[in-house]
Amino acid sequence: MVHFENVVKRFGDLEVLQGLNFQVQPGERVTLIGPSGSGKTTILRLIMTLEQVTDGVIWVEGEPLSHMRKGERLVAANEAHQRQVRKKIGMVFQQFNLFPNMRVLRNITEAPVHVLGQSKEQAHTRAKELLELVGLSDKADAYPSQLSGGQQQRVAIARSLAMSPDILLLDEVTSALDPELVADVLDLLKDIAQSTDITMLIVTHEMGFARDVSDRVMMFDRGVIVEDGPPSQVMGDPEHERTRSFLKAVL
Ligand code: ADP
Repeated sequence: MVHFENVVKRFGDLEVLQGLNFQVQPGERVTLIGPSGSGKTTILRLIMTLEQVTDGVIWVEGEPLSHMRKGERLVAANEAHQRQVRKKIGMVFQQFNLFPNMRVLRNITEAPVHVLGQSKEQAHTRAKELLELVGLSDKADAYPSQLSGGQQQRVAIARSLAMSPDILLLDEVTSALDPELVADVLDLLKDIAQSTDITMLIVTHEMGFARDVSDRVMMFDRGVIVEDGPPSQVMGDPEHERTRSFLKAVL
């Protein structure tokens, strides 16, 4: 579903990813853990095409995301094709990123209507179902500023699901929330993980959540995978000292 092949990412002189290789299977739930600055968010942003790779290729559903290698040359992927691939990927951010000037319902229907070409009626019906799923049926007409952080994040989750993504990227989605609002959002994500087969890549510091939802945990340090395996192994019985000291610091 997602394949990183020798992916290098530099920001100026800083090499954040140093030739990264990994694959994620369809339906897999993979959590990325590791110290701040180790490149986890950059990986999600590359998949979302918010950043471009410096070298290497990212494949999504067997297609190159932005370009592919032909001999020594990197050749741009066809643009129409890139748009198709991007539609299959949803991302939820730490800071919600809702449209502040639109009511909740419109936040959810905007992309299905304008990107997927759904009719307004079809998009409304689906948005109402999704608001029910996230427990916010009574907030369809509210503006984001009238909601708590946890409610805004649940709207952001509904908005990403409205695009029927094959892949959902979750970037520290509870980090900006007051502690008492965190559990609601995590419970919702656990429900979604249980009731769908969406492939998920999750960056989180919530180790209990990571253990509950993940099939697999990848521990990063300085842009390199230090350890990769089921949560019981990586979190319960880590092989590497760097993983042990990271877990000790966050647990
Ligand atoms: P993590 O998510 O593991 O905390 P990030 O992927 O956010 O790590 O960042 C990895 C490194 O890349 C950090 O040193 C960060 O400062 C740097 N970085 C990320 N984005 C940019 C950018 N747009 N410009 C310059 N440096 C960046």
